[in-house]
Amino acid sequence: MTSTATTATTATRTALVTGASRGIGRAIALRLAADGVRVAVHYANNEAAARETVDAITAAGGSAFPIQAELGVPGDAEALWKAFDAQADGVDIIVNNAGIAGPGRIHEVDEDAYDRVFAVNAKAPFFILKHGLDRLRDGGRIVNISSGVTKVAFPDMTAYAASKGAVEVLTLTLAQTLGHRGITVNAVSPGTIETDIHPWMADPAAKAHAASFSVFDRVGQPDDVADVVAFLASEQARWITGQNIDASGGSGLGL
Ligand code: NAP
Repeated sequence: MTSTATTATTATRTALVTGASRGIGRAIALRLAADGVRVAVHYANNEAAARETVDAITAAGGSAFPIQAELGVPGDAEALWKAFDAQADGVDIIVNNAGIAGPGRIHEVDEDAYDRVFAVNAKAPFFILKHGLDRLRDGGRIVNISSGVTKVAFPDMTAYAASKGAVEVLTLTLAQTLGHRGITVNAVSPGTIETDIHPWMADPAAKAHAASFSVFDRVGQPDDVADVVAFLASEQARWITGQNIDASGGSGLGL
């Protein structure tokens, strides 16, 4: 573990990206690595996908290593950091990306489903940050992946939306807490992005409907989000903190 006394430099930065084996997290890991950042590629179960992400980074001349930790279970954050500490000494960028969908209108959501979506989407980021703060170097970056469902009501995802609301309030609060250390804390809210989280996108009609949410009339791709995260993680974003950046392709502008 590294003391917070060391200020981050762009040349030698290390990032933790949760849920980096697939989807948006994978794109974020690749993008940060292309910027010269050494990336901890976190995953839960899909070791082969995490290995593919690491191999893609190293094949492109970057540096990365996989770390496994199931989130949403007791002691998850400590287990994650233990795996991280075995391969790195301190961190400069923490991206809380891992998340699960939580479908259901309020009358359809039972306590177990509610607890599960909050455990993975809200509680895990909270404790990853709590236990990560003494590893995060001054001048560091925190980016939390939220969702556009906090701005436009999606009753079919009530518990999921509430879990992302918690992430956004955590973002705002920690931006105030960590400002004195030069650490920025921001959220990024994607719209509908084509990843495994949406198996229904295999249906062309459903995908076309999702595309119609955006003013660009297409569904988003993981890189559309990764580029925004990379900017927030960069030195150029030093004066932005406590914000929730929309990365939804203008979804809901006309509603
Ligand atoms: P995805 O393709 O389903 O990938 C999920 C990633 O999170 C995988 O790397 C997975 O690891 C990891 N993960 C899932 N559950 C986990 C758990 N319990 N413990 C640890 N790791 C876990 O998802 P995605 O679409 O890229 O979504 C990434 C983030 O963006 C989520 O927070 C999601 O809510 C948010 N988001 C997505 C969209 C969208 O349209 N796709 C829109 C708005 C917000 P394994 O590979 O090991 O399973």
